[in-house]
Amino acid sequence: MNVGKGEVVRTIRWGLIGAATIGREWMIGAIREAGGEIAAVMSADAARGNAYAREFGIPLSVISLQDLFASGIDAVYIATTNDRHRVETVAAAAAGVHVLCEKPLAATLADALAMVNACEQAGVVMATNHHLRNAATHRAIRDLVKAGRIGRPLSARVVHAGFLPEHLHGWRLKNPAAGAGAILDLTVHDADLLRFILDDEPEAVTTLAQNGGLAAEGIEDAALSLIRFRSGLLAHLFDGFTTRYVETGVEVHGVDGSLAARNCMSQTPGGTLVLRTAAGEEPISLDHQNYYVRGVRAFHDAIAGKGEPAASGRDGQIALAVALAALESAKTGRLTAIDVDL
Ligand code: NDP
Repeated sequence: MNVGKGEVVRTIRWGLIGAATIGREWMIGAIREAGGEIAAVMSADAARGNAYAREFGIPLSVISLQDLFASGIDAVYIATTNDRHRVETVAAAAAGVHVLCEKPLAATLADALAMVNACEQAGVVMATNHHLRNAATHRAIRDLVKAGRIGRPLSARVVHAGFLPEHLHGWRLKNPAAGAGAILDLTVHDADLLRFILDDEPEAVTTLAQNGGLAAEGIEDAALSLIRFRSGLLAHLFDGFTTRYVETGVEVHGVDGSLAARNCMSQTPGGTLVLRTAAGEEPISLDHQNYYVRGVRAFHDAIAGKGEPAASGRDGQIALAVALAALESAKTGRLTAIDVDL
């Protein structure tokens, strides 16, 4: 019997969809650390799924969604390539199973909308794994902006670049249908993070894309974007897979002060944050925690009817709208409107 939204919760039983790297490196550990039980994994490839199940002590490995849902799970973690997310999410919703889906939610807005609607109609929790909301640096920036410590925010800067590790040089660099490119992989995270930090909605984007020789021809492996938010704030983003020695960061500049986080746009908890005002430079103390564990805890709480997931399905849909508008802008060379009221 599945645990419905708001019911008293026992241990949440999870099914993994996709024998994926992100599960191996972060999410299997995060689900278990947050108190979840991983009951099954579904892989399109039986041998790979079996090996994955053995490696991580997962009791059941299946190759169909039907068998996965029949195993009595409460929630799925979807970590397949982006072209598969819609079918898997809609099927989970129909089975009454809560959904934590990887970003970007889908390849098109119509797909993302169908996913969000299916979960809403089925009354299951839907979350998007935008882990950067869970970073202590970014949560502190949000709190300080809200508290008025920098006055009215006027601009923001995100550097979300590095060198894509060799073991990830697959579909991300080659397969547009699966969601290749730096914009769908990285800009989508920045868009979500800025909405979270600023409590503001993006309205237009202009993007220049680059192929620095790592991605296949016609696919961007880096991009510079400029986003205008409804408040008038301008944000610029540098996203890329190609630069090995760049320091990541998030800055927000207001009329009364500036916030600058360094080494914060990654999967590993850490980074620093300073507040600069007329009073001088103040280092902000941070309580670093695993971003993915925090996200899974919030998801478990949402299933129990206590609050919302860190990033909802709708948040994932809006972040995708920004990334798709950025891709469109890069293609046409024009400022592109972002429709967040779909
Ligand atoms: P992988 O390439 O490792 O896995 C994607 C899918 O490909 C798997 O679910 C699996 O599906 C299949 N697969 C895995 N290994 C192989 C293989 N050797 N040969 C053929 N197929 C294989 O992708 P990632 O883990 O990097 O990304 C998965 C999702 O997670 C994407 O949506 C990505 O954008 C997102 N992601 C999110 C991050 C975050 O921090 N939020 C970080 C990294 C990724 P199956 O087992 O069914 O065949």
